[in-house]
Amino acid sequence: MIDLHTHSDASDGSYTPAQLVGESVALGLEALAICDHDTLAGYDEAAPLAREAGLDLVCAIELSTKLHFQHQPRKKTVHLLGYFLDGAPGEGFRSWLEAVQESRRDRNRRLVAKLQSLGLEITLEEVQRIGKTLTGRPHFAKLLVRKGHVSTIQEAFDVYLDESAKGYVDRHEPSFSEGVARIIEAGGLPSLPHPVRLLKHKPSGFETLLGEMVNQGLGGLEVYHSEHGPEQTAEYLDLAQCHRLAATGGSDFHGDAKPAVKLGTGVGGNLAIPREVLDRMRDSGSRRT
Ligand code: AMP
Ligand code: FE
Ligand code: FE
Ligand code: ZN
Repeated sequence: MIDLHTHSDASDGSYTPAQLVGESVALGLEALAICDHDTLAGYDEAAPLAREAGLDLVCAIELSTKLHFQHQPRKKTVHLLGYFLDGAPGEGFRSWLEAVQESRRDRNRRLVAKLQSLGLEITLEEVQRIGKTLTGRPHFAKLLVRKGHVSTIQEAFDVYLDESAKGYVDRHEPSFSEGVARIIEAGGLPSLPHPVRLLKHKPSGFETLLGEMVNQGLGGLEVYHSEHGPEQTAEYLDLAQCHRLAATGGSDFHGDAKPAVKLGTGVGGNLAIPREVLDRMRDSGSRRT
């Protein structure tokens, strides 16, 4: 069994990179990928520990990108996974990531000001203490709960932080096609995570959208994910084969931040991804180059 979609506390997960490696070994996972949002810091920390423990650790990232959907006025955020199967990306990609992280810091400053203007007493320092290396909206949500402004993380998003909520501030994110291009340039395989979350209101449009993404260079589709039921998994596997995409998969483990999702096994044991999935991803890489 493998898990190719997990988050450490370098982004919005609650496990340290060392704990992720330790748990994976204890579970007997044959491979693990750490896919933190917009940072490689968790992977970098885990890499020597995994080597020591004999764990096959895949370098990965989950980028936030902007995509323009047909018939919609505003661009929306779409996540994009990158798997660096031949090794971690070099300086070019890493310095590009620094610019991405700076746009997050800029957004965070504006988000604090906006929330303050709505009467919430919070400071940038407080939220950065929770977010550590990469402060995101989930850390703002945690702070709002901790300070008693809302009672749950979900309420924090519904009332203040969601794209449609009153506290939302936009941030500059690379376009989806730029994300794909940057990952490929750095030697990675770009894969679309949790497709079930896209076009929830109009699932019939997904195939067209996927076709456009493939034209931009998308190379994989996250077929296996803890939010996919058996029928959806079968459907995405079919689509991946149609478009000659590598099937990828993982739980999207965030530790205590999403307690229902377990490392390796997903929600209520709905995942058991075989090693061959990673073997085929590696094969698809050798075909590309
Ligand atoms: P950021 O990348 O800092 O803008 O934060 C985005 C993250 O916030 C996503 O990856 C989700 O984990 C979380 N998120 C965004 N919108 C919602 C929502 N409506 N409800 C719960 N979590 C959300
Ligand atoms: Fe996350
Ligand atoms: Fe995601
Ligand atoms: Zn994720």
